Amino acid sequence: MAEISKDPLTGRAVIIAPERARRPKQFNASGTPAEACPFCPGNESATPPESWADRPANSQADRPGWSVRVVPNKYPAVSAATGVHEVIVESAAHIGNLAALDQLQFNKIFHAYRERLRTIGADGRWLYRMIFKNQGERAGATFEHAHGQLIALPFIPADVATEMSAAREFHRRESSCYYCATIERELQTKERVVTSDNAFIALCPAAPRFAFETWILPRSHASSFEAADDALVKEFAKITRQIIRALDRIEPNPPFNYFIQAPTIAAKDQASYHWQLRLLPQFSRAAGFEWGSGMHINPVAPEPAAQLLRDALI
Ligand SMILES: [Zn+2]
Ligand SMILES: [Zn+2]
Repeated sequence: MAEISKDPLTGRAVIIAPERARRPKQFNASGTPAEACPFCPGNESATPPESWADRPANSQADRPGWSVRVVPNKYPAVSAATGVHEVIVESAAHIGNLAALDQLQFNKIFHAYRERLRTIGADGRWLYRMIFKNQGERAGATFEHAHGQLIALPFIPADVATEMSAAREFHRRESSCYYCATIERELQTKERVVTSDNAFIALCPAAPRFAFETWILPRSHASSFEAADDALVKEFAKITRQIIRALDRIEPNPPFNYFIQAPTIAAKDQASYHWQLRLLPQFSRAAGFEWGSGMHINPVAPEPAAQLLRDALI
């Protein structure tokens, strides 16, 4: 049974999840046999029954035919009383690298993310929802087959609450959303902009914790990804695929994490919180200094990182 413990002094929470220790580790880049992979079509019975799937209307649940499949995590980091933990299987094909997927599949994946966030958010109990992805063993993946995850918690984690309150304070002071102001400034100098279109911008943040860290933000202020319409979800999938493919050209099959946070937005945060995806490549490991100080050492400045990513855009 998973439990959440909070540090009495700082409020920083940890999840104690003994179940997770039992989860199998199937990472084997040199040809995991398909029948051993619980995420491959034909092996649906190896996971809990699906909670959602992108599949033809005439096909049966928990049978092949799907193109994206969402299931409860068999080894959840949170118990049913304290949260939700789902796995989003991102392709029917046994593929480990998102860069190999076409635009249509990306559209389906991001559509699935939004659908699950909407449904789980509607429950009302989970004040913080998050989609995240670990690609590659170095980034924490235990299964090769491409999959994202959704975790929902009954409270907003301390670090997220701190950022939200800083954004609220900026808005009070400057009468502008911090992220909107950043987008405007970055588009003027262009040094840290990887690409932009009418709907989104991808930029390397001024203080990146990781080499090639990239943030993707909607150009028009919006506080929640769940509220994005189908057209915007497609644009979002398009620019995210462009960035992942550029990163893949710089370093083939890159290990990375990305996440989209979906905290419940109180009225006071609507004008100051701006949803986004943060992509964190994992080319070096956080170690003693990082754990002790909370400060990351990054060998690549954001300007050359943005330049290399721009040059690698297809
Ligand atoms: Zn598989
Ligand atoms: Zn904004």
